[in-house]
Amino acid sequence: MYGGENNARMSAAEGGSFQEKADRYRKVIEEKRQLTAELSQKNYNKAVGAGVEVLTGSAAFLDDHRILVTYPEGNTEELYGKRIFINTGGTPFVPPITGLKESRYAYTSEGMMELETLPEKLLIIGGGYIGLEFPSYYTNFGSQVTIVQDGEAFIPREDEEVSAAVLEHMTAAGMRILRKAAVTAVRDENGKARAS
Ligand SMILES: Cc1cc2nc3c(=O)[nH]c(=O)nc-3n(C[C@H](O)[C@H](O)[C@H](O)COP(=O)(O)OP(=O)(O)OC[C@H]3O[C@@H](n4cnc5c(N)ncnc54)[C@H](O)[C@@H]3O)c2cc1C
Repeated sequence: MYGGENNARMSAAEGGSFQEKADRYRKVIEEKRQLTAELSQKNYNKAVGAGVEVLTGSAAFLDDHRILVTYPEGNTEELYGKRIFINTGGTPFVPPITGLKESRYAYTSEGMMELETLPEKLLIIGGGYIGLEFPSYYTNFGSQVTIVQDGEAFIPREDEEVSAAVLEHMTAAGMRILRKAAVTAVRDENGKARAS
């Protein structure tokens, strides 16, 4: 949703030309940034308020019980822990597709959430949960979206009826879904990424 208090019920993706939607899309990304920064600050304050010492830096193991923290300024600190809990999350997997890593127009889910320019056309590799979240909102904004899924099954972890219903809904909404198709190469051409 976009529009603050005055038109909070109106979807940012509703109505207007592609350019108008692209302008609103840019504002949505900006609002998202502000919101996540605010939430992050709130969580930080909460943790500190509860007595947690939060160090903002990058950690690496020196051995089983010692961690080296490197701060953004470059200075380091060594910490010892009898027990150390690792909560470092995950990073997006970039599949070994020829030219994908090198493409200037290929994004992971993290990169997509920072993309300020609404793409006219968007190809999504993979029809899992995260791969499906993006097509829906970009389609709502007016992008032409194609999803490539290498297996026959769409959202393979879901029950067949659920995946069939989602497939029907997404196709009706205008998304093009290619199954049993794998992207094997990507190359940049005329300011776009071209997949084959
Ligand atoms: C596009 C997308 C959509 C999602 N949507 C949903 C959703 O709708 N609902 C839902 O429940 N989940 C969703 N998820 C999953 C959810 O984001 C993760 O399950 C959750 O963030 C995992 O929490 P975490 O604390 O394990 O890791 P993270 O949230 O990834 O936190 C790990 C933290 O560790 C930091 N870190 C990593 N390495 C180091 C290091 N060496 N030193 C110091 N710090 C380090 C990272 O910077 C990060 O801040 C989504 C994920 C993605 C990518």
